[in-house]
Amino acid sequence: MSVASVVQFPEVLKKDLEHCTGTFRAGGTDLTERRRRGLHHGPVVDLSRTPELREIERTRSGGLRIGALVTIAQLATDPRIVAAYPGLAEAAAGLATPQVRARATVGGNLLQEVRCWYFRSPEFTCAKKGGSGCPARTGDHLYHAIFDLGPCIAPHPSTLAAAFLAFGAQVKVWGDDTLRSMRAVVGSGKTASQTHTLAAGELLESIELPKPVVGERSAYVRTIARSRAEWPLAEVVVRLEQDDEGKVVRSQVTAGAVASVPIPLKAVMKALAGKGPDDFAEAAASAAAGSRPLDMNGYKKDLLVGTVLEALERAAAGTPAERVR
Ligand SMILES: Cc1cc2nc3c(=O)[nH]c(=O)nc-3n(C[C@H](O)[C@H](O)[C@H](O)COP(=O)(O)OP(=O)(O)OC[C@H]3O[C@@H](n4cnc5c(N)ncnc54)[C@H](O)[C@@H]3O)c2cc1C
Repeated sequence: MSVASVVQFPEVLKKDLEHCTGTFRAGGTDLTERRRRGLHHGPVVDLSRTPELREIERTRSGGLRIGALVTIAQLATDPRIVAAYPGLAEAAAGLATPQVRARATVGGNLLQEVRCWYFRSPEFTCAKKGGSGCPARTGDHLYHAIFDLGPCIAPHPSTLAAAFLAFGAQVKVWGDDTLRSMRAVVGSGKTASQTHTLAAGELLESIELPKPVVGERSAYVRTIARSRAEWPLAEVVVRLEQDDEGKVVRSQVTAGAVASVPIPLKAVMKALAGKGPDDFAEAAASAAAGSRPLDMNGYKKDLLVGTVLEALERAAAGTPAERVR
């Protein structure tokens, strides 16, 4: 990338965003790699000098607003996130490597592209790159989706998308008057070309977390093929509200890495209602209901069930959420 192709952002932000024709670069850990492989061309709009988007602040409704350029390391260690949304802090702390977490941003994480080896290789074409079909379906799909939602079976790449969905977060796009739901931004997975639904030139400004549910417990668990520096094979965020006897009053169970979007595990949530920790294994057993693995990735069904069970147990043993201070 030549220096001339990089527009420094503050100037653009203050004057005329709509004249920006480049692609935004935040931490660059995904975009730069795609450019190096020849998958992305054209000018880049560098966001790195935009302090306005690096803050985490309390909202009037008692939640938190997270600027798009907050780093993943910042998200993982912010005491307000750790105390009020522990499962989100764990998800941020568990992804990638310390080096990536120090550089990569929340916005870039949500909007990064899939890690499918066919998509990332310039040797292959696919529906996601403007061609047709999904070579992973008949090729090597060892790590791909077991819930088949559409043409592309690459798992959604963003751990934070799964966590933000579980916590009911909303998204502020620069210039919009209203917030968009995280589900609307992540998309349905039914259109192969979409890993997210932001249009070219739309700047993700911040993510808003609603007021935390004081007393609920939450956890994040991932299953990976090696001990670190790897995308998960299955990842799960659990939020639990329990009564004095430990019976589940309300739950939220969201899975990543098993479909082209992060998905709520409705069968598990239904099975948990009114049940206590002794019933967690039975509830977790329904985690893969409705999945349709291909030849090589049926093993993910058991992994998902085990990951859900561990996340339920960890959540129940976790620290109750506090209000945002
Ligand atoms: C070894 C390794 C393991 C990893 N494991 C995981 C994992 O387990 N889970 C996980 O989620 N990720 C994982 N990652 C990926 C990593 O988290 C992403 O590369 C990173 O989060 C991207 O953030 P960034 O700020 O560098 O984005 P960039 O590369 O700067 O941008 C990514 C995309 O988002 C767009 N973009 C960025 N910010 C904005 C904005 N504010 N508005 C509009 N568009 C924007 C860019 O145009 C680009 O298309 C891993 C990476 C590595 C190298």
